[in-house]
Formats: sequence, structure tokens, C-alpha cells
Amino acid sequence: MKLILPDYDFKFDDGLAEVKDGMLYIYKPGSFKEIMYRLTYMIYGKNECYFCHRKLRTNMLELDNSKYFSQVTLDHLVPQDFGGPTITNNLRPACSDCNSSKGNMYPDEFEEYKKFDGKKDKASKIEKKQFKNALRLKQERRRFGEIESVNEEWYSDELIRNIYVNFWITEPLGVMYKKQERYFKNYKRLPKPIVISQNRFLLDGFNTILLGKYNFEDKKIKIIILENVYFMGFP
Ligand SMILES: [Zn+2]
Repeated sequence: MKLILPDYDFKFDDGLAEVKDGMLYIYKPGSFKEIMYRLTYMIYGKNECYFCHRKLRTNMLELDNSKYFSQVTLDHLVPQDFGGPTITNNLRPACSDCNSSKGNMYPDEFEEYKKFDGKKDKASKIEKKQFKNALRLKQERRRFGEIESVNEEWYSDELIRNIYVNFWITEPLGVMYKKQERYFKNYKRLPKPIVISQNRFLLDGFNTILLGKYNFEDKKIKIIILENVYFMGFP
């Protein structure tokens, strides 16, 4: 699949990455998420919430001398809990209110949910409760893979051993890995997407690839191959 990129050439000042002739070149390992955040703001701006169209504050506002608060956040259209990848195609600027109330909903579910905003009559309250119950069931079926949870066109089938991982761990597997392992045991599927570059380098999904390595050694699994991204960060 193709990553959505700004339609002009540029290089980040700190040299993390460069866009040239419709290709993204990544120069620093481990910087993929940061690059996705920056690109999303470049493509979609920082000024308006994707969901409620409210204008967003972009300057940092000082609160109680120490903490900083900004109204702009990035929302995953397909929620991360259902394997929504952190790539520009799946990220949109959103106000923190929309982002937190959307939670694990898909955009169309969130639209439906918003209809209950401000309604306090009894009938609406009952309807809202029914909506939430139905949503919970749907989400559970999604976790079991009984209904599709991701945008199928984004995925290709690939063998894990064909992916280059250019870093390795020196510590015992962490909390994130344990969490993903639990998910795998419960639902018999990989919880997060593996994202790789055109030249087959791992960009995102390190824990998932470990989990996959132990469980799908010779089987093809669904991963995202970004055909217009090239990884240059190898030694
Ligand atoms: Zn909003």
C-alpha cells in the first residue's frame, strides 16, 4: 500500500527523514512514529478537529506553572486496540474531547454515538444504553476476528523471516510484550500491525514480530508494506 505523503519535496531539519519524488526516505532507526505524527500535521494541518470541526489551539498554554496543555491530539481512525496502525492514512488531528470520547469506536460508530450528545430525555438515555451494549458485543467479536476490524486493502501476506529487524533487545521482554501475549492467548490473533518499508525493514510492531516469530514461523501473516517508504537507517 502507499503511505499518504505531502505532495512536495522536503527534508526535516533534524535529518530524520526526507520526502523526494513521492518517496519517504527514513534515515534514523526508531523514529517511525515521530515521523508519522509530523507528516500527519503537515498533511492535515493542526487547526481543525477532524470530527467536530472546531478550531484548535496550536500554541501551548501554560497551566499551573509546570504542565503544558494543547488541544490538538492525533486520533487513530481505526482504533489501535483493533490493530489500527500509526500511519498517516489512519491518523487525523482531533481535539482532545473528541479523541477521548471516541475511544475505541470507529468513525461511523462515533458519528452515531454523537447523536446522543446533550439529550437527557428518558427515551434517548435508553437508546444510548442499547447502543453501548451493542457496541460492546461488536467489539468483542472484532477482537475474536469474527468481523473485520481493519482496512483489508492495507494488508499483504508476508513471511516473518523475510523482514529485516535492524535492532535487537538486550532486556527481558517488557510489559507491552506481556500484554500482547495475553491478547494472543485470548483471541488467537496478533493484536498489532507489523509495518515494514519497501526494502523490507521493520518500521513498527517489534513486540508483534516477536510474538509472530514464536507462533507463525512458517506461516504468512498479514502485514502492512509501505511501497513508497525506504529505510536508510542501517549501519
Ligand atoms: Zn473535536
